[in-house]
Amino acid sequence: MKLTKQNLQPATEKIYDTIVVGGGAGGLSAGIYLQRYLLDTLIIDKGKARSFWMTELHNYLGLPPDTPGRSVLRQGKEHFLSLGGDLLDAYVEEIVDEGDIFAVRVKVGRKESEYYTFRAKYIIAASGIIDYLPELENIRNVYDYAGYNLHVCLICDGYEMADKKVGVLASSAGNAEVVFPLGWFTVDIILFTQGLFEVNEDLRNRLEAQGYQIEETPIKQFLGENHQMTGVELTDGRVIELETGLISMGSKYHATYLDKFDLEKQGGNLVTDKMARTSHPRIFAIGDLKAGLNQVVIAAADGALAATHIWRDIRRSTSPKTAVSKVAD
Ligand SMILES: Cc1cc2nc3c(=O)[nH]c(=O)nc-3n(C[C@H](O)[C@H](O)[C@H](O)COP(=O)(O)OP(=O)(O)OC[C@H]3O[C@@H](n4cnc5c(N)ncnc54)[C@H](O)[C@@H]3O)c2cc1C
Repeated sequence: MKLTKQNLQPATEKIYDTIVVGGGAGGLSAGIYLQRYLLDTLIIDKGKARSFWMTELHNYLGLPPDTPGRSVLRQGKEHFLSLGGDLLDAYVEEIVDEGDIFAVRVKVGRKESEYYTFRAKYIIAASGIIDYLPELENIRNVYDYAGYNLHVCLICDGYEMADKKVGVLASSAGNAEVVFPLGWFTVDIILFTQGLFEVNEDLRNRLEAQGYQIEETPIKQFLGENHQMTGVELTDGRVIELETGLISMGSKYHATYLDKFDLEKQGGNLVTDKMARTSHPRIFAIGDLKAGLNQVVIAAADGALAATHIWRDIRRSTSPKTAVSKVAD
């Protein structure tokens, strides 16, 4: 059921088998599997997933290569709700371990916010990450192109950049390294440091050896129309023409609600076993938040693994149903 401030009270009085934080590709996949295992599931999602900004999902078996992320989310939510799952648009602020049960503190509504606590035996952290974008004076100018031909994901969109003149926007020497795997797709690469970091001698030598250019003057604005970026204007007035771009400026990890748990991490990513279980036995992590490849197909597969493992745990700790107990029910 779609929960709102008006009808959520009964849900605060029950104990769900699992609460899934995040209703993107991973969270919805987990929710669908959990409901099909006849487990009681609540997905809490603040919206605007990375999948939401994905204008075209290019590489998912069975879907046309121009499928918008928003269609995947819409269809996934409808599917989950049709299986009897509960879905709430809200922000998870904090999770407390009360022993065998987790208390999940949630803020509902950006304006006139109300606070509620929901409880569950298991948590799936499916809250993802979000890409840092260039901080230009006019941020709308960035949104006009980001996610269109100003890409944020080499794995997703390297193919789209093949043989094109690409501007790579980095924020550190570390994330500038993306130019080297990008070199598989194209040789025409300009690295924009945006004045944010020094290119050390080693990096400069390696870039020059490949014939890649370096531009250290900050970018004033992107140029183009109809969401197609055709170049950049620099703060010194020069214009550089481009055919496409790649932003590589790191990501924000959406996991502050887990801060109290000392979970094993790799950078900002949660480390899990092969069934997506974190270092806490009842907390699973899936999708972009988990260490590994940031792809829809991986997030969806992680959701299946986490749900299946939770089902196995619950099934093994519950007396099996027999024909006799079924009649008694
Ligand atoms: C522009 C773009 C293009 C891409 N193209 C492709 C592609 O072609 N192919 C491909 O496979 N992948 C692509 N990706 C990557 C893909 O979108 C991600 O790998 C995928 O969405 C990860 O799914 P997820 O469920 O882990 O996270 P998300 O889809 O980001 O979902 C996480 C959800 O959790 C919510 N959330 C976060 N914190 C909280 C909280 N505290 N409380 C409640 N909810 C919370 C978020 O708002 C969000 O709705 C692209 C990404 C971008 C940005």
